[in-house]
Amino acid sequence: MICSAQIVFHLENLIVIKLGGSVITDKKSMPPRVNLKSLRRIAKEIAVCGAPLLIVLGGGAHGHQAAHKHGFGNPNTPPDRLLLGIPDIRRNMSQLASRVEEELSQQGVLGAIFSPFNFVTLHDGFIHNFPTEIIEQTLNAGISVIIHGDVCIDMKKAASILSGDTIAVFLAEKFQAKSVFIGTNVDGVLTENPEINPDAKHIPLIDKTNKDQILALTGPSSSIDVTGGMAKKISELLDLANHKIDVVIFNLLIPNRLTNLFLGKPIICTRISLN
Ligand code: ADP
Repeated sequence: MICSAQIVFHLENLIVIKLGGSVITDKKSMPPRVNLKSLRRIAKEIAVCGAPLLIVLGGGAHGHQAAHKHGFGNPNTPPDRLLLGIPDIRRNMSQLASRVEEELSQQGVLGAIFSPFNFVTLHDGFIHNFPTEIIEQTLNAGISVIIHGDVCIDMKKAASILSGDTIAVFLAEKFQAKSVFIGTNVDGVLTENPEINPDAKHIPLIDKTNKDQILALTGPSSSIDVTGGMAKKISELLDLANHKIDVVIFNLLIPNRLTNLFLGKPIICTRISLN
C-alpha cells in the first residue's frame, strides 16, 4: 500500500513528453497500425530517464481515422452521429495505450494508463472539468502516467475530441512542469509544411519577435487530422512558454534525440521561449 511517507517524486522536476501519433502509429495505414519499431526504441529511450514521466499519446491512425469517420472535425455533424463514434474511437485509443504500456513495462518503466473519457468533460471543445488529483498522486508515488488523446462528453456538442497536445499543455501548466517535450515526425517547426515544400527552413527558436509571423505560416498536417496539426500545437504551446516551462518540439522518429533531451544535450529542435 502506498502512503504519503513513501512519496518519491516532486512535481517541480516533472517532464511531460508527448509521443506524436505520427511516430507511434503508421498514420496513413487503414486499419490503424502501431509503429512497433518506433515504439520499442522510444520505450528504451524513456527507460533512460529513470524518473516518473507524464507520457501523453497522440491519436495518430488510431484516433484520427475513427474520429473522421464519425464526423468529428465537421461542425455540421449532428450530435447523435458523434455519440455513435464513441466506442470506435475509445476502442482504438485503448488498444494503442495498452500497447504503449506493454512496451514500457518490458523496459522496466512502471506506468498506468489514464483514459480521459472516464473523468474529463469538455464544453464546445474546450476543457470543462479535468480533475488531476489522482494523476498527481500517481506521479508522487513514482509511477509514470500514460494518458492519451480521447473522445470526451461535451456539454454543448454531445462529444468532442480532446487532443494529446491539449492534454500535454493543460497538465504541464497545472503541475508547473519543468519541461515539455513534444515528439513528432519533423525536426520541429519549419517555415512551411514540409510535405508541401520539402525546402522549408527549420526554425530553431520561437520567441516574442517571430511568434506571430510563424503562427501565420504554419498549417494543418496533411493526414486526416481532426485536431489541428502544427499551427494548433504552436498556439497552445505559446501559452506554456509564458510559465518559464522549457518547451521543445523535436523529431521523435530519429533515434537518441529524446535521450539527449533527457541528458540536457543539444539537439535539432524548435524551442519556444517568450522570456
Ligand atoms: P503528431 O501526430 O506527431 O502530433 P501532427 O500531424 O499533428 O503530428 O503535426 C506534425 C505535422 O505537421 C508534420 O508532419 C507536418 O506535415 C505538419 N506541418 C504543417 N505545417 C508545418 C510547419 N510549418 N512545420 C512543421 N510541420 C508542419
